[in-house]
Amino acid sequence: MKALIIGGGVAGPVAAMALARVGVDAEVFERDEQGAEQRGSWVTFQANGMDALRSIDADGPLHDIGYPVDDIGFVNGKGRPLGTIPLAARRADGLTSRMMPRAALYTAMAEEARRRGVDVRFGSRLIAATVDGAGVTAEFEDGTTARGDILIGADGIHSTVRRLIDPYARAPRYVPVLNVGGYIPDFHVDVPEREFRMQFGIRCFFAWMPTPDGGTVWFANPPAPVEPEQGVLSSMTDAEWRARLHELMDGDAGPAPKIIEAAQGPLIGWATYDLPVVDHWHDGTGRMVVIGDAAHATSPAAGQGASMALEDAVILAQCVRDRATTTEAFAAFEGLRRARTERIVAEGRRASNSKAAGPVGRMVRDLMLPLMFRRAAKDGGRSLMWLQGHHIDFATPV
Ligand SMILES: Cc1cc2nc3c(=O)[nH]c(=O)nc-3n(C[C@H](O)[C@H](O)[C@H](O)COP(=O)(O)OP(=O)(O)OC[C@H]3O[C@@H](n4cnc5c(N)ncnc54)[C@H](O)[C@@H]3O)c2cc1C
Repeated sequence: MKALIIGGGVAGPVAAMALARVGVDAEVFERDEQGAEQRGSWVTFQANGMDALRSIDADGPLHDIGYPVDDIGFVNGKGRPLGTIPLAARRADGLTSRMMPRAALYTAMAEEARRRGVDVRFGSRLIAATVDGAGVTAEFEDGTTARGDILIGADGIHSTVRRLIDPYARAPRYVPVLNVGGYIPDFHVDVPEREFRMQFGIRCFFAWMPTPDGGTVWFANPPAPVEPEQGVLSSMTDAEWRARLHELMDGDAGPAPKIIEAAQGPLIGWATYDLPVVDHWHDGTGRMVVIGDAAHATSPAAGQGASMALEDAVILAQCVRDRATTTEAFAAFEGLRRARTERIVAEGRRASNSKAAGPVGRMVRDLMLPLMFRRAAKDGGRSLMWLQGHHIDFATPV
């Protein structure tokens, strides 16, 4: 069997590696020219994502990238502790989360796939696909075509494959906070090692974490209830971003002003989107299916989008291995994944909304958060194990 995988982000190369283990030949087609370094931002890559990679022996490259995170400690605008959430503290295998540049994650996965013999073709933007009785033909913007038995859309939140499966698929939904952040070398913050400190400031959510090499990773989520028009964010200058962040963090206790001054420029900000329900994950003929953000994108606040994409990639390969036909495999895949991923999207949405709360919402939030965090801390992270404790045994039939 031959699989055409559209998207060389997180899910695509990993799906190719997982499919290779079940005897499916896969080729990855990525729209962008080689070079993931343009994809700014850092991601929290959680233990369940690491577990998915480990299930196909592909976690190796990631242990050398980024920094481990054991806890998230929350404080309010005055700097008063609200509570600490342990990340994956109860996993028996000791897997924990890591903070890493998104670009490094992409590059590591594409390189590992190539090392295993997967062909990753950059500069290949899918524009159409035709299904017939014998297979599927993918058409690319550069005029080339490719033929396979199945086509997997790992092409992200604005997926073309999703629209080929269902031209009426719902559009992504705007998340009401922006994202800006980065890494500052030689910059000390007073936080315990391996703890990410996050502040529900008076007007803005702000986070910082010390790294073992003496630097600091940071990000901010300026509230933006209305979606910025196209071009507004990309035309904001570094000076404008710094001024905006200073204004938002004015009056909050903590290192935010110093971080904003020391941050390496130019500062660039993103709007983000989520995708709560995709009605059709596959085309019903066993030829086309979507995985990762193309099927269920969560707001960055969940810190789970990449990990969910990797769980999908591996579980799809298990389904292809264990079902008689790809139609059955895609249906089984959706059955195994839909409830879990939609739950995470809903939790991510709630977390984003709490970061963008207005004055009344802030009052309620600040009363409720300590109770929530106390409960989570008391059970040592058990309540998060449905999420971070997810385990895939690749050999076990699904
Ligand atoms: C600011 C920000 C912060 C985030 N923080 C976190 C975090 O802390 N933790 C976390 O787990 N997740 C985080 N995420 C989400 C995470 O990046 C995504 O969930 C994850 O990348 C999804 O992987 P994917 O492979 O499904 O899609 P993507 O990584 O988006 O990859 C899709 C790929 O498909 C390619 N493509 C698109 N269309 C076509 C086409 N027509 N033809 C060929 N190729 C195409 C794209 O170029 C891209 O390379 C964050 C996202 C953002 C934007």
